[in-house]
Amino acid sequence: MVLANLGKRINGAVNNALSNTQDDYATSVDIMLKAIVTALLESDVNIALVSKLRGNIRNKLLDKSAKGNRSMTNAQTKKLIHKTVFEELCDLVDAKETQVFQPKKKKTNVIMFVGLQGSGKTTSCTKLAVYYSKRGFKVGLVCADTFRAGAFDQLKQNAIKARIPFYGSYTETDPAKVAAEGVAKFKKEKFEIIIVDTSGRHRQEEALFQEMIEISHVVKPNQTIMVLDASIGQAAEQQSKAFKESSDFGAIILTKMDGHAKGGGAISAVAATKTPIIFIGTGEHIHDFEKFSPKSFVSKLLG
Ligand code: GDP
Repeated sequence: MVLANLGKRINGAVNNALSNTQDDYATSVDIMLKAIVTALLESDVNIALVSKLRGNIRNKLLDKSAKGNRSMTNAQTKKLIHKTVFEELCDLVDAKETQVFQPKKKKTNVIMFVGLQGSGKTTSCTKLAVYYSKRGFKVGLVCADTFRAGAFDQLKQNAIKARIPFYGSYTETDPAKVAAEGVAKFKKEKFEIIIVDTSGRHRQEEALFQEMIEISHVVKPNQTIMVLDASIGQAAEQQSKAFKESSDFGAIILTKMDGHAKGGGAISAVAATKTPIIFIGTGEHIHDFEKFSPKSFVSKLLG
């Protein structure tokens, strides 16, 4: 994971701060910040976010030092720097103000997925279905992708392997109709979580967004999740903004974190849409799925 490189560079910068005894404290902080800023920008984090983070860290560190902390030992100062950088990086990936939807047992919870083709939607739908099924929910999968030939077969194969009941159609061409039928069927059978997989396109296009609005209108999701491929870099921010307008998703699943993703684009997407990442995909297998927590993400990042 390239993110590990980012972590290594940030860690290196933090550890190097203060190692040169000839520099005064403020100069050391600025040298460190320059290295951190470069590492974040090269990992595709949006420049405005990086500049804000730089300002925040600088203020906190220099403010503390100005407040009579000159008596701090080098070790204490390093600890303070580590803590400050850690907290600021957490803030960058933490959409704190947004409440994440929690499905309720003995109720029908409809979860709709949106995202571009190839982002990992169908795979993530199955992973989430397994996640909830293991926690005692009765979960069903609906394939509302009538755009891509083979989409239903793919979901069917995944669902069979994972032993999750599924619904789809080989003949119906209206995705909203299939979605409505699938949700109605599972509702009648008292399923607690109904996950609706939708179609994607290779590019963002109006027809796709229109389709998402129509499906959303008929299935009335309790939660909409956007699936974002971590490897798309800077494009993540714009893509997530476009989906936000049509689908108003409340959560993000970030896929392919096991690959060569720089991840910074995804961090920018969180900030741009103020939407939390809830899970990350770390491989093609059903169990390659982790709950996302800003603190553990940043801890891992910094190693
Ligand atoms: P969809 O078109 O959005 O439904 O995408 P798919 O679910 O078909 O996934 C596209 C490709 O990405 C497939 O080959 C998946 O196995 C792969 N994929 C999905 N999630 C991950 C992940 O977290 N890591 C890796 N390495 N591959 C993934």
